[in-house]
This record gives sequence, structure tokens and C-alpha cells, in this order.
Amino acid sequence: MIGPIFGGFGSMRVSTGKASGSENRVFTVVVEGFGGGRQRRGERRFTVPFEQLQTLMQAIARKGGRIRVVSSEAVPSGPLATSPADGPASAPPAVEAAPADPAPAPAQTSKPKPAAAVSHADVPVNLYKPKDPFLGTVVDNYNLLAEGAIGRVNHITFDLAGGDPQLHYVEGQSIGIIPDGTDANGKPHKLRLYSIASTRHGDDLADHTVSLCVRQLEYEKEGQTIYGVCSTFLCDIEPGAKVKITGPVGKEMLLPDDEEANIIMLATGTGIAPMRAYLRRMFDGSERDKNGWQFRGKAWLFMGAPKTANLLYDDDFNRYQAEYPDNFRYTKAISREEQNSKGGRMYIQDRVLEHADEIFTMIEDPKTHVYMCGLRGMEPGIDEAMTAAAAAKGINWAELRPQLKKAERWHVETY
Ligand SMILES: Cc1cc2nc3c(=O)[nH]c(=O)nc-3n(C[C@H](O)[C@H](O)[C@H](O)COP(=O)(O)OP(=O)(O)OC[C@H]3O[C@@H](n4cnc5c(N)ncnc54)[C@H](O)[C@@H]3O)c2cc1C
Repeated sequence: MIGPIFGGFGSMRVSTGKASGSENRVFTVVVEGFGGGRQRRGERRFTVPFEQLQTLMQAIARKGGRIRVVSSEAVPSGPLATSPADGPASAPPAVEAAPADPAPAPAQTSKPKPAAAVSHADVPVNLYKPKDPFLGTVVDNYNLLAEGAIGRVNHITFDLAGGDPQLHYVEGQSIGIIPDGTDANGKPHKLRLYSIASTRHGDDLADHTVSLCVRQLEYEKEGQTIYGVCSTFLCDIEPGAKVKITGPVGKEMLLPDDEEANIIMLATGTGIAPMRAYLRRMFDGSERDKNGWQFRGKAWLFMGAPKTANLLYDDDFNRYQAEYPDNFRYTKAISREEQNSKGGRMYIQDRVLEHADEIFTMIEDPKTHVYMCGLRGMEPGIDEAMTAAAAAKGINWAELRPQLKKAERWHVETY
């Protein structure tokens, strides 16, 4: 059985699964950009016993190699192989000996970079603060739900032109909205945060708009229907109105720069907002022409909604899937219309469990990032599903999740 290892240099951990110990395993490391000349461009594969793994990793780090995949395999009882020639029959093929590196190992002074780092440089933060917000103009406000849907969700676009500084942002950030009026104490309302649903270029690609996906908060209290202050303000707002905007804020949900990254997205309801921005950046034709970021990795969206009519931006995602079948996969969980394997409602965590094997195979690749966004209530369900899915592959999720987080590959924004 192949046992996975995750994280690249920054968070290298060995999962021995059900095996009795690491000393009974061989490790295969696939490296890119290793060595000199023509070799640098290709992939190389090394298979070593456990006691040589650390040395191999140090050599790869020194030579600037990028680890693509690490896997381990139990060796039948008997002496371990130290070279391809006398390796175990079950060892993976195309084995190379560990790279010799006679140079003394320099003391490691700086922390190794995570395998698939997200660039935080040049990310704008707090260009406009609550005391002096930017006054944006509403240019569009339309309903996103189909006939028969539950609740009210709108797509709202603001013009940001004319600010000094210009209010700009990147995908995965949020902005603050200060609704007009005063609270019960007569004080101005506080800001509410909303995930940005447009790319940095804006829906019209003119570089000066921002779009949000807003659900009107509605709940019952003591026999009365209560509507949220800011979400109602936004869903009701008319084009031409001026709105106080702050931010942008947030660096948790940034996309990696790597055009070959893999992006797994778990969204419920308006948690789709940042994913809509990512997917436009990846697959919308005009946006791609404009941004020059030619995404070539795999993107997989898991979207949870109560009814089909509540799916948000569904037509766009179906189109991306038709146009980029090798790069985009779209998996829906419609809780009130579909059943899980136990006959209960189909939630996003049930879909995660169904595809556990593929998800964890993707996560083994250091280029894979996972993004989760939506109501806070979705977290325990996803965590449970990831725990079960990981266990099926002999992995301890409680140990792996913080490693992924540290490597900036596990991104969560729930509210
Ligand atoms: C980072 C971040 C990103 C966000 N992104 C989005 C987004 O993309 N889209 C979006 O629609 N929202 C988003 N939100 C949520 C948003 O900020 C607001 O919280 C939401 O719109 C409600 O604000 P409101 O002013 O309408 O409600 P308020 O008038 O502020 O009412 C909220 C309050 O009502 C009470 N309440 C709520 N539900 C119930 C209930 N069932 N029973 C009893 N009391 C209840 C609670 O006290 C709660 O604090 C995000 C939040 C964060 C932190």
C-alpha cells in the first residue's frame, strides 16, 4: 500500500498509516527543477529507505528542487534496499539513487518556504478606514436566485473610480460596507464585511468596480421576522446610490501565483463569492485575456445549496466545465433534493466523503490548496468528513490540517 506524505519542505511529515514503523518503508520523491542544465526542466524520481530520507531532502533543498510528490511504500520483511539495483520487488519503478552532494551542508538559517506559497506581496490592505470611507456608487444590483429558491441573494456592483488612492483589491479579499442610518443607540452603524465576488479587474474588466454576493439575513424571533440591517440595505439599494466602503482586508483566501496549482473549493451559499472570483480569473475568456494568468492546474468546486434554484452563478460554472473539462470539475450537493448514501439530506460534506480518495490524492501534491467559505456552521461537518476521508487512507486529519495550514494550503473564511 502506498502511504502518502504531505507538505514539502516546510511541513514535511511522514504518515506511516497502519504500518508498524517508518524503518520498514521506502520513500519515493518526485522532484522538479533539480540539478543543472537540461535536467533542471525535467522531473526526477528518487527512492530511498527512511534513514536516507532526511539527507535526500536536504540535498534537494540545496539544489533548489521542487518536490512534486512524495509517497511511501511498505517493504516486505528483509533488509532494505539502498540502491535501485537491489531494491524490493514492490518498489516503484524508475528509481534513482539519492543525489550525491559532497559539499558540506550549510546550517539552515532561514525557514524553508512552503511548497506552494501564496504571494502576500503587493496585496492592498485598509486603503479606506471606517473613519474616512470611500463613497462608491452602485452600478448594478440584481437577484441571483431562480424561481422557487429560498431567501434572497443579490449580486451588487459598485463603481470605485475617482478615489485617491484608487480602491483596488485582489481575489480572495473582502470589503467593509457601512450601511446608512443609525443603530438602536442612535450611533452610526458599524461596518459589515463582505467577500469580494469579482476579480481585481471587475466584472466589466474596467479595473474600477467591485462586486459582492449578498444574502439578506432573515430570521424569526419571538414570532417576528427580523431582517439584517446591512444585508437588507444592500439588497434593496438602487443603482446610482452612494455607499460607504472600507478596506480591502484579508490575506487568508488569496490564490497562489502558480498557474499550475490545484484548487479545491468548498462553498455553501454566499461562500461562493471568493470562488466566483477565482473561477472567473481561471476560466472566463475575456478575464483570462486581460489578466495574462494562464491557469493550467485543476480546480474542483464543491458547492452546497438547499435547492437547485439556490445555486449561485451556476450557468457560468457549467460553461467553464464544458470549456475546460480537463481543468474544472463542479460537484453540487443539493440538500433538499438529493440524498446521501444513508438516505439523509445530501450536504457538501457527504460529497467530500464520496470523493475522499481523489481529494486526498490531490492534497498529497504540494501544489494543491483547499479553500472553504460559507456559514460557520459548515466547518464541523467538513472537519468530520475530512477526518473520515483521511482515516480511510491511513492519515490523521487532526495532525495534517495544521501542517497544511502552516504551508498556506488550507484556507478557511467562515462567518
Ligand atoms: C469575512 C466575512 C465575509 C463575509 N462575506 C459575506 C458575503 O460574501 N455575503 C454575505 O451575505 N455575507 C457575508 N458576511 C456576513 C456579513 O458580514 C453580515 O454579517 C451579514 O450580512 C449580516 O449582517 P446584517 O447587518 O444584515 O445583520 P445584523 O443586523 O447585523 O444582524 C446580525 C445579528 O442578528 C442576530 N442573528 C442572526 N441570525 C439569527 C438567528 N437565526 N436567530 C437569532 N438572532 C440571529 C445575531 O445577533 C447577529 O449578530 C461575511 C462576514 C465576514 C466576517
